[in-house]
Amino acid sequence: DDNIWAEGMNIIGRLEQSGYRAYLVGGCVRDRMLGRSLHDIDIATSATPEEVMALFSRTLPTGLKHGTVTVMENGRSFEITTFRQETGYTDARRPDQISFVLDVREDLARRDFTFNAMAIGVDGEIVDPFGGQDALRAGVVDCVGDASERFGEDALRMLRAIRFAAEFEFVLLPDVWQSIVKHRSKLKQVALERVSAEWDKMMAGSGPEQACHYLFKSGLLVNVKEPLPDSFQQAAERYRFNELPWEWDVWGTAATDEGTMGNMLQLPLISDADLRWAALIAGIGMSEEDCTALCRTLRISGRRAARIAGVAGFNEKLGYYDDHSLRVGWIRTVLAYGRSIAEDWLTVNEVCDPDSSAKEKTLWLNELSVTSVQELAVKGDELCSYLGRSPGPWIAALLQQLLEEVALGGIPNDKGSLLWAAKESIGNQR
Ligand code: ATP
Ligand code: MG
Repeated sequence: DDNIWAEGMNIIGRLEQSGYRAYLVGGCVRDRMLGRSLHDIDIATSATPEEVMALFSRTLPTGLKHGTVTVMENGRSFEITTFRQETGYTDARRPDQISFVLDVREDLARRDFTFNAMAIGVDGEIVDPFGGQDALRAGVVDCVGDASERFGEDALRMLRAIRFAAEFEFVLLPDVWQSIVKHRSKLKQVALERVSAEWDKMMAGSGPEQACHYLFKSGLLVNVKEPLPDSFQQAAERYRFNELPWEWDVWGTAATDEGTMGNMLQLPLISDADLRWAALIAGIGMSEEDCTALCRTLRISGRRAARIAGVAGFNEKLGYYDDHSLRVGWIRTVLAYGRSIAEDWLTVNEVCDPDSSAKEKTLWLNELSVTSVQELAVKGDELCSYLGRSPGPWIAALLQQLLEEVALGGIPNDKGSLLWAAKESIGNQR
């Protein structure tokens, strides 16, 4: 951390020695002041992209249109952007025009929040024209200039405001909150990828419950570009319109609302971001199908979606069995979804619904001699030749049935017993 900071300082030193002005800016200054770890360093300078490229040996023209050049130093990359102003946001997301300026203060004025609009120079000089340090000390999210105007220019900033508030346990100032509510429908103009990337960062961050609380309460989520599944929207709307004291509502740590978003408060207790999604969805009681649709709309990768929706499906299937057949129902569900989804479900269940049967379920899972058809002592082609039938979809169904019988302890997992049981079963079907 100190290293990356020192290298950033070194780069702005070289720019200054060549007669340009240069500063570390934005998120890295804020995170440094908060004592948080730094992931990347942004640099702002009076030098033009051409001048920056002339000065450093390893550069990439990553965003020339916006004045950005990436400089590689000792295997690390640094984004160097020429001081710029932005004007005209007709699409509620991107400026129509940018123009290079000479003073860092003008560059800081285009930034979203006061704590993101600070710069540090080579000699450690802090440039903080909007009171970013005060905001950090007070623990508030405040916009540079008029909140309503800034969210109107770029709707993504509404999600960023919520993300920073949740991540730092900061409070959204009243005009910031009211401006979000006022402009929420503009979120429809933001690309879904950007919305879900922000939401996903919030889910993986340190205040997922607070983030969800703000996202639901503001009504932002019913204003994403493509509709989310009805079951999700309805739960979000129930949460939104639930009567809560105003102070609790906006200022408090996440409000409890057992009925609709039962698992929200438990989210930080889960370390895996995918399982936080799964827990949120389980709390809403969404079906596997709706969960898959939600993941698809949010562009969550197929791999992650299979896991998140798998837990939802597991939960759904398990719900069909009553207490009399608890063990049987559990084992059938495990066999349908596999061991790893079962373990994921247990992880979610452990924090969201620590009921007494979790111990038993873990035990039953550990006791299982087989959890997939690959572990059976008989293969599909052996069934074909033994039964004298040609291959077909019947094989998978039969193997799954044999798997259940072995797992439930009905027959031992040896070839003879399995072939005999297979013949029996086929015979019964005739
Ligand atoms: P993090 O990297 O932790 O998400 P960050 O503040 O560094 O936070 P970046 O997206 O890396 O976020 O942006 C770097 C800086 O650019 C911000 O600190 C802010 O000054 C400015 N910035 C980013 N996005 C916007 C925006 N939508 N509107 C105005 N300024 C922005
Ligand atoms: Mg950053």
